[in-house]
Amino acid sequence: MRSTRVRRVPKTAAEGGDPRAEGALKYLAAHFSEQRTTVDGLWSANQPFTMAAAAAVVAKSPKGSLREDLTCAICCDLFREPVMLACMHHFCKPCISRYWRGTQGPVTCPQCRKEFSSKQFQTNYLVTAMVEKVRATTSDTYMKNLEKQLKETLESYRLKKEDFINSIRRDKDKMDTIKRFGTDLQTRVKGEFRALYQILHDEETCALEQLRREQEEELEKVQRHLEATEMAVRELEDNMRALQQASAATESIILTELPQLRSRVQVAVVPEFDTNAFSNKYLAPLQYITWRKMFKSLNPGPAPLTFDVDTAHPNIQVSRDKTAAVECDVMIPHTDHSKRFLQCVNILAAQGFQSGRHYWEVEVGSKPKWDLGVASEAVDRHARIKLSPETGYWTLRLRNGSEYSAGTQPWTRLQIGSSPQRLGVFLDCDERRVSFYNADDMSLLYSFTNGPRGKAFPFFSPCISDRSQKPPPIKLLQYHHVALSG
Ligand SMILES: [Zn+2]
Ligand SMILES: [Zn+2]
Repeated sequence: MRSTRVRRVPKTAAEGGDPRAEGALKYLAAHFSEQRTTVDGLWSANQPFTMAAAAAVVAKSPKGSLREDLTCAICCDLFREPVMLACMHHFCKPCISRYWRGTQGPVTCPQCRKEFSSKQFQTNYLVTAMVEKVRATTSDTYMKNLEKQLKETLESYRLKKEDFINSIRRDKDKMDTIKRFGTDLQTRVKGEFRALYQILHDEETCALEQLRREQEEELEKVQRHLEATEMAVRELEDNMRALQQASAATESIILTELPQLRSRVQVAVVPEFDTNAFSNKYLAPLQYITWRKMFKSLNPGPAPLTFDVDTAHPNIQVSRDKTAAVECDVMIPHTDHSKRFLQCVNILAAQGFQSGRHYWEVEVGSKPKWDLGVASEAVDRHARIKLSPETGYWTLRLRNGSEYSAGTQPWTRLQIGSSPQRLGVFLDCDERRVSFYNADDMSLLYSFTNGPRGKAFPFFSPCISDRSQKPPPIKLLQYHHVALSG
């Protein structure tokens, strides 16, 4: 009885086994048979495989089955001192020795049953090296290390995937936000235009109604004249008929008096229809007239501001109509007022806002230096403060004639191509937005979205400029200025 159980590996897939089962050994054999045409050749040549051939074997062998391929069919463990029989099957040297022990004469291969006349095998150093390699790469330490690397790689991939998924989510959120904002803005833009259409529509209806009424009046006048004239004709005909009858009767009877005649109808003279007078009103520059009317209805339209003299720094001189302010060398006698700026050369408008949307325009001309915008009612008028939303100021500023900045902390430099002579300031109290426009072409220069809470006032600082020339004033543009030059 044999002491060792032999695991028979099926030769081919057709026999119902794993086709990879014979893996490396088969490859080794096949490769060898390509190199050395006969099995005998192998024995006689007694030459181990080249490294290139071994590499090809390893490369061809499916990774998962390599260990299996290097497993002895007798002990079912990795080869120990692997040897190859003439049939190309490999076994551990101790296993095959034990298997053949006690057998006299011919022996068989435990795997393919091929008979050999003697106990002959060849040590296969290449397979030995491969086994050692597999043994090393399946050791606990190696496996643990490999597992750790696998886990780490997997974890890094998992984190990366999570990052990408989060990024996808963020992109989708952004797209949703853009769509939502776009839709919202579309609604608002449509609303603004609808308001304009409504004004135009109302104006058109009104003009057409007036035209219709005037036309009606003219027609009625002529109609009345026409009717009066027709009535006069009928009366004349009646009278003529009476007179003709009387004339005929004179032959038979003595006519003592004229027949009774109807009083003569008076027909007032209707003045000629004056086509010019009628059409003048409608052949006027109707678009401009309507635009002027629309201008008054704009919401927000330019607010007619005036300066609040009580807030003016003593070095600011305000014009009599309170629409122009200019810095001056001498301190102007002033009354103490809690509203007055005492440190900085500032001034506010008299009109403050705490709800709704407001727009005003300021002429700065070619002044090389100014600050303007909006200030909270609560700003400290007696302190020297850096202008920024944090201190209650939302401003745009010019320095050195061409350096524009938004009054953030630190300043935000703005690239503004042309030098606006007029600036528009838009304050939306409800949405806390303060925007600056070049009022010459209405291009947006800067927008604060963290505008004032509570009451705020239009703010101006003419600054102290170069004394070599007379400083130009800051002017508040009144409605009629804007309307006529717009
Ligand atoms: Zn074995
Ligand atoms: Zn065999």
